[in-house]
Amino acid sequence: MSEQKKSFEHIVRERWCKGCNICVAFCPKQVLALRNGKVYAAHPELCIGCRLCEIRCPDFAIEIHEKGVQKPESQDASDVDHTIPPEAKHA
Ligand code: SF4
Ligand code: SF4
Repeated sequence: MSEQKKSFEHIVRERWCKGCNICVAFCPKQVLALRNGKVYAAHPELCIGCRLCEIRCPDFAIEIHEKGVQKPESQDASDVDHTIPPEAKHA
């Protein structure tokens, strides 16, 4: 086997997870499980990165990131402080 298997990281915002089990039910690989009412990756090595869990979670409590892939610089306008004019940053 020459193709390297991708692996994925499961980021759970525990405070947002209400343990509704939706992501667990939708996961085609039985990666996820509940523990003390919060989701966690019980079998992360089985994850195929389909993101169904992320898409189906009504509370945005779980995110999937491919391991070893750099996230691009943030393009999110909400991360930029528009209250400061650009020239002020040179002060
Ligand atoms: S990305 Fe897909 S395979 Fe991986 S945990 Fe989520 S639903 Fe399961
Ligand atoms: S779908 Fe979201 S809120 Fe429900 S168990 Fe999964 S991560 Fe938690």
